[in-house]
Parts: sequence; structure tokens; C-alpha cells
Amino acid sequence: MSDLDELFEAAKAVRENAYAPYSNFLVGAALRTPDGTVYTGCNVENASYPVSVCAEGGAVSAMIAGGRRLIAEMVVIGDAALCSPCGMCRQRLKEFGTDHLVVHVADLNGVRRSFTMDELLPAAFELEMKKG
Ligand SMILES: [Zn+2]
Repeated sequence: MSDLDELFEAAKAVRENAYAPYSNFLVGAALRTPDGTVYTGCNVENASYPVSVCAEGGAVSAMIAGGRRLIAEMVVIGDAALCSPCGMCRQRLKEFGTDHLVVHVADLNGVRRSFTMDELLPAAFELEMKKG
């Protein structure tokens, strides 16, 4: 199994744990750090909708809790035609992505498109103090 296949399968598996009783839109995310560690997250909705957390946010939180700070590659999976990261998550990924971060957007059958961070969030807001 390739590294990308492994990341896809991890994202697909964690998607099954999503808590999405309001939208019924399950999303999974799996990221790999430069040292090869994989972290996952799924969307967690709330009766107060803005409190909800995206799958990408859950994966980033797990990575930070695990002591890592950089994302080399990520797979996001949903059952939409193109379940690409929302605007807020694009900024979240910009904060922790390596300069070569690739985000693969998948449906249940496999990766559909792959994006660089510059494609997802051109002219991103950034401060010099990040990634310390
Ligand atoms: Zn999001």
C-alpha cells in the first residue's frame, strides 16, 4: 500500500466516526507529518451550528496534541463531488503546512483532485512568528 493509499484509508475510516446528525455530511481527514506520523480527525457538529468543528481542524488538533507542528500531506474525504477544505480550514492548514503541502480531496472511491497550498489559498495571510 502506498503512503497516499494509507492516508486515504485512514481518512475514510475516521470519517465513519463523524458526528453529523444535523447535516448527515460525514467528513474525514488524515494528515502525515514530515516524520511520517499520521493523525486523523472527523467533523463534530453541534446543536449550536457555529460550535461545530471540521474534520481538518480535528486532525490538526490531534497533531498539535501529539507534539508535531508541520503537515506534509493531507487527505480530506466526503461524499460530495469535491469535498475541498472550507475557507477557515484553508487558513488553518496554511498555519501548519510545509512549503510543499499537498491536500488531496477524495470521495469514497478515491482521490479526485490534489491541491498545493497556494492553489487553495493564494496570497494567504501569514505572520512571521509562525511554526516556532
Ligand atoms: Zn473547514
